[in-house]
Amino acid sequence: MRVVVDQDLCGTTGQCVLTLPGTFRQRKPDGVAEVCVATVPQALHAAVLLAASQCPVAAIRVIESDTGDGERASADPAPSPAEAERHAAKDQRNPGGHDGTV
Ligand code: SF4
Repeated sequence: MRVVVDQDLCGTTGQCVLTLPGTFRQRKPDGVAEVCVATVPQALHAAVLLAASQCPVAAIRVIESDTGDGERASADPAPSPAEAERHAAKDQRNPGGHDGTV
């Protein structure tokens, strides 16, 4: 399992850091949450799901597969036009493309 934070959505409440300080941390300058593990250990899966469910702005996304293949569980393998447009706009705003994973 992997987990990412949508840093454009993060409201800097720190709830995820309080729930799982070894998995999430807040950036020093602005308090935006980051993920500090590449993959989530099995023992923490339930806690990460809880943290994601408790995020007040739904900025935490859980990816079931370590390779990212499980992110899209639906039968539609291609992103919707709206989703593709959103990612393109995000890339223009943040050319570095940081998704919250360290
Ligand atoms: S709980 Fe959500 S809004 Fe709060 S710091 Fe974590 S990711 Fe950001």
